[in-house]
Amino acid sequence: MTRPQFFKSLAALFASFTLVPRTMNATAFSQFTDALQPSPKMPVLFLGHGSPMNAIEENEFVRGFRKVATMLPKPQAILCISAHWETKGTLVTAMQHPKTIHDFGGFPKALYDVQYPAPGSPELARTTQKLLQKSKVGLDDQWGLDHGAWSVLKHMYPLADVPVVQMSIDYTQPAAYHFELAQELTALREKGVLIVGSGNMVHNLRLVAWDKLHESYAHDWALEASTKMKNFLLDGDFNSLIQFQKQGNAFQLAIPTPEHYLPLLYTLALKGNKDTLSLFNDKPVAGSLTMTSVKIDAG
Ligand code: ZN
Repeated sequence: MTRPQFFKSLAALFASFTLVPRTMNATAFSQFTDALQPSPKMPVLFLGHGSPMNAIEENEFVRGFRKVATMLPKPQAILCISAHWETKGTLVTAMQHPKTIHDFGGFPKALYDVQYPAPGSPELARTTQKLLQKSKVGLDDQWGLDHGAWSVLKHMYPLADVPVVQMSIDYTQPAAYHFELAQELTALREKGVLIVGSGNMVHNLRLVAWDKLHESYAHDWALEASTKMKNFLLDGDFNSLIQFQKQGNAFQLAIPTPEHYLPLLYTLALKGNKDTLSLFNDKPVAGSLTMTSVKIDAG
């Protein structure tokens, strides 16, 4: 890929996708019975997804995604909060067969050829809608699976045999709102649901180091922000992470727009007092991104 093509791709990635909320008549789901069975408390993940090319490349990060899947109980369903679905209000995908969305531009054909035909779960969508009291959640029949979801899930569950529901990020709301909203999802962990936030903690596409695209390299500010974030994570100081806009210049450069950072807060909000938190894929790439991912295990 030439540099202009790559830049075009990155520019496309910047674009946010806004949908007019569309609701689906709840009676349309009356045919579905309670398919989600009680389970031991499931882990929760935040996955640094990085470039869409991770979907088709073989590298240490995709090996990390595969490995973490082997460490988890097989979920009955996945609820994914992806950086790439921002809406006014909160929506959950409620179709039985979500389409694979190629929400980027300028990448090789092989990436557009990828299909991830995981089924949806109208039951999980409806259960999520009922659980969330802080927001009136809409059932969506237009979205599908964007690359924030499928580029990582295809490595974890290559057979696409686990139903996936996406939940959108309400771009009108502040960080604390997202954290509190996510806390209402806790009960899903005991319904066999793997909740996955997908974004990047440090994510500034305007400051990519073009000569270090494939290197584990961080600009000074990226390293500073990443180190502070990890200290807050490991100290359990989630309040400082919610207040990311008050953490100084390095954080402002690391989080120029919130959409790749907010999925982390959805994951952290679900950590119980006795749960443990660990990091994996903890490396920077291209100067201005980190792939650092989080696994929360039931204590
Ligand atoms: Zn992304």
